[in-house]
Amino acid sequence: MSAALQALKERMMDVNALDAATAVMDWDQQTYMPAHGASARGEQVGRLSRMRHEMFTADETQKLLEGAAVETGDDEATAMVRVVKRNMDLATKLPSDLVAEKSKLGSDSQEIWVQARAKNEFGLFAPYLQRMIELVRKEAECLGYKEHIYDALLDEYEEGATAADVRAMFDTIKDPQVDLIKQIGELPETDDSWLYGSWDNSKQRAFTEMLVQAIGFDFGRGRQDTAPHPFCTNFSMDDVRLTTRFKDYLGSAIFGSLHEAGHGMYEQGSPRHFDRTPLCGGVSMGVHESQSRTWENIVGRSRPFWQHFYPKLQEAFPELKSRSLDEFVKAINKVEPSFIRVEADELTYNLHILIRFELECALVEGSLSVAELPEAWNAKYTDYLGITPKTDTEGCLQDVHWSAGLFGYFPTYSMGNLLSYQIWNALQKDVPNTDELMAAGNFKPILQWLQQKVYSQGKKYTPRDLVLRVTGKPMGAEDYLEGLGAKYRAVYGLA
Ligand SMILES: [Zn+2]
Repeated sequence: MSAALQALKERMMDVNALDAATAVMDWDQQTYMPAHGASARGEQVGRLSRMRHEMFTADETQKLLEGAAVETGDDEATAMVRVVKRNMDLATKLPSDLVAEKSKLGSDSQEIWVQARAKNEFGLFAPYLQRMIELVRKEAECLGYKEHIYDALLDEYEEGATAADVRAMFDTIKDPQVDLIKQIGELPETDDSWLYGSWDNSKQRAFTEMLVQAIGFDFGRGRQDTAPHPFCTNFSMDDVRLTTRFKDYLGSAIFGSLHEAGHGMYEQGSPRHFDRTPLCGGVSMGVHESQSRTWENIVGRSRPFWQHFYPKLQEAFPELKSRSLDEFVKAINKVEPSFIRVEADELTYNLHILIRFELECALVEGSLSVAELPEAWNAKYTDYLGITPKTDTEGCLQDVHWSAGLFGYFPTYSMGNLLSYQIWNALQKDVPNTDELMAAGNFKPILQWLQQKVYSQGKKYTPRDLVLRVTGKPMGAEDYLEGLGAKYRAVYGLA
């Protein structure tokens, strides 16, 4: 590695140290921090973030980047320069007063959003949302775009993706999914009431830890705690933090843990020499989500997986002993249109995202006003899911994203769903006996393949290039529709 590149890498390790400090504080805030610590913690994180921004965008860093850019020799060096340059562009195109105002508005408006949601009073939140949309529009103009203003926002979370890509994705999946949901809706309702109860937390903890360890999460380089909204974070590739939650629904902890472990194993799987450099970790939100969804849904909600683990679950919770494996598999794959995205089943989930994407585009391009949002939201739920929210709390006030200014983020959830099946199909060409492996509790060949093809690539390629390299084609919907269709027809005994 050239001296210039080494100097850039050193600088990025400094930046990474500030990122890690912020991440530790954030993890702590969401897990163990006493309630009154929030105000000082917010202030400290704000100061650290400012220091990070100043260090990253400093003239000195830019000079190091320019110096390294002319000396690149190998793939990894080129990739590192590319990643730093992209991040530098994103960080320097936005004026600091815009960043500061958006950050301040984000924290104020989240507080108001919590109140508005509790009181079911959209009017409280509306002026904040209005201002946020104005700032988000400015942000998009500063970042620049070719076709649609939304492209600039989406690109922040999924490099290279455009609103047109997302529209094409939903155009392909919408009708077949709505059709399948209708067919299932005509069948007698699946009883999953027996998965609700007061389950012992320590047993849930032990069971979920056993599960994520069995699929390959390394507890020597990570741990699992509880948080109100499960998430995964890491401070290096050797310290990856999962969180889960224990609720009345037994599946909450199980699938929350499997989901976060999917994120976590991706983070643990970077090559060692990438650790704490700009090339370490998952390449994009969409690809990251594909891995959490793989372990949560394709593996974790499959019959073979539970052939192995259901007897162990019954051992931990003897209440389940009167219920068969087939009843269990059907119950954890229950399809039912519902109002709340985060509780949606695998099949209806993308329709929630489609609704948010259409509304976000309309809000940002100005064809929908904030005042019209609640009605437009409810109309789309009636149209796509056949149900109408009775309150804005179970309607347009449910997600944190808009109050936090995260416009352009939602589509990456659906991209993750599509990519999970596309990557899984590629995996099955090399590892054809996945069902037998899972039924035997042997996840090593599956993890090794993902490790080799996806996790060990870190951020070396753009998300588009990585998908092409791993699956031989750009992101598409065929594998997803085929896989999902086959799975649900089997679970529900449809023709
Ligand atoms: Zn996730």
